[in-house]
Amino acid sequence: MTQEITNSVEKGICSSCGLCSIQEWPMQESIQSCVFKNGWLGKREKQLFGRERQQDNPEELRFGITLERFTAQRKHPVPDAQWSGIITSIAEKAFDRGLVEGVVTLHRSAENHFFSQPVLALSADEIHASRGNKPVLSPVLRSLQDAVRKKLKKILVIGAACHIHILRDFQERFPYLREMEIYTVGIPCVDNVQRNKFDWILERISRSPGTALHMEFMQDFRIHIRHSNGTTEKVPFFSLPEELSNPEIFPEACMGCFDYLNGLSDITVGYLAAKLLPDQNRQWVIVRTKKGQELLNLIDDELERFGEHGDWECKKAVLKNAERTIQGMKDRKTSYSSERKIPLWAGHLISRLLSMTGPKGIGFAHYSVDFHLIRHYYYVKYRCPEQLTVLVPRYVRTILHEYGLPL
Ligand SMILES: Cc1cc2nc3c(=O)[nH]c(=O)nc-3n(C[C@H](O)[C@H](O)[C@H](O)COP(=O)(O)OP(=O)(O)OC[C@H]3O[C@@H](n4cnc5c(N)ncnc54)[C@H](O)[C@@H]3O)c2cc1C
Ligand code: SF4
Ligand code: SF4
Repeated sequence: MTQEITNSVEKGICSSCGLCSIQEWPMQESIQSCVFKNGWLGKREKQLFGRERQQDNPEELRFGITLERFTAQRKHPVPDAQWSGIITSIAEKAFDRGLVEGVVTLHRSAENHFFSQPVLALSADEIHASRGNKPVLSPVLRSLQDAVRKKLKKILVIGAACHIHILRDFQERFPYLREMEIYTVGIPCVDNVQRNKFDWILERISRSPGTALHMEFMQDFRIHIRHSNGTTEKVPFFSLPEELSNPEIFPEACMGCFDYLNGLSDITVGYLAAKLLPDQNRQWVIVRTKKGQELLNLIDDELERFGEHGDWECKKAVLKNAERTIQGMKDRKTSYSSERKIPLWAGHLISRLLSMTGPKGIGFAHYSVDFHLIRHYYYVKYRCPEQLTVLVPRYVRTILHEYGLPL
């Protein structure tokens, strides 16, 4: 990992996906498949689906090409999974049924509960141990090296959008993985961080960072942090210290990321559009390909399914923040206060109000996708303009146009 971060200077923008540390082929070949060299979606999407997402279909524009979308939870949740454990159970079943011989994923590192260790999981126990989020940049693809060395023919890769983009490009561009049958499960991913910044950030979010075991940015506009004593701390987005709004704390890769919902995965499993209900773990499932359908079929009877809910419209909410967000990307503020912008009690009040009156369900997913793509477009435009043509896919410009925002 340290090696990859050091090399990132030569590589340019890099999310430490792990491909460049593989020794089975020259690093230069890995770099040729890098999404930060080739850009998001576009040709890759066309290659996978035979077409790009339709520019006149507002849902497809945001959520990508899909066969089916629904919300669901496992009837029997996987203990200690991030949500109800849909991803872990897909991986377990795919292995058990012989659909794949190994799973390229992550374990928790021994040094920090939230840090990752890439793994090629080759047993039910190893797959089970991969459950749960590791909210740091993670070299998932490094374990492809083990899969190649072991001459595996069928694997499952679980990854964020950068992993899946780079994997798909590499499999097509070079011969090394071409004979392998690869299934992919994608997580939605945004605001990821480098591990050397993680503790600094967590200390500023939580009143007890040392006991935090589970953290998620939730649909009620609050960060929920579950602690080792079973309590859940809730921190409103609006009450975070001002220094956490500094775009420089996020990796350049994640600020230049334009595929929140993992549009090239066979199946994406998140929670964004699901109903947030006490004591439930509802998730949002987006099936994209026939292989994704095959993966879903493995566990479909273990799911309690629900439809999507919420109003689509969220234009007012997006535009309310857009100007401030754009200005924040343009201005290069050098000092940020460590004080909370809004006291906790007032933040809770705003969160509660927004949970009642703000976007919900698919409207919340719509809002979140648009908020982030606006932030990222202007980050790239003002802070690394030479990357604008390469990184930004067409759908982003279409959405900016919808809002009347300048290119
Ligand atoms: C940084 C980050 C941001 C996210 N943001 C959102 C979001 O905004 N909206 C949303 O709907 N969902 C988001 N997710 C995904 C969500 O938190 C859950 O991972 C997902 O819903 C699956 O839940 P599950 O119970 O099925 O997962 P589990 O069964 O617990 O399996 C999770 C799988 O994800 C893998 N994984 C964990 N961390 C990483 C990582 N850093 N990179 C690659 N793979 C990883 C695990 O190894 C495991 O295989 C995010 C995840 C991460 C890591
Ligand atoms: S993101 Fe991956 S492929 Fe791109 S430079 Fe970094 S390690 Fe290499
Ligand atoms: S935000 Fe984007 S670039 Fe960053 S880790 Fe997630 S998918 Fe990769």
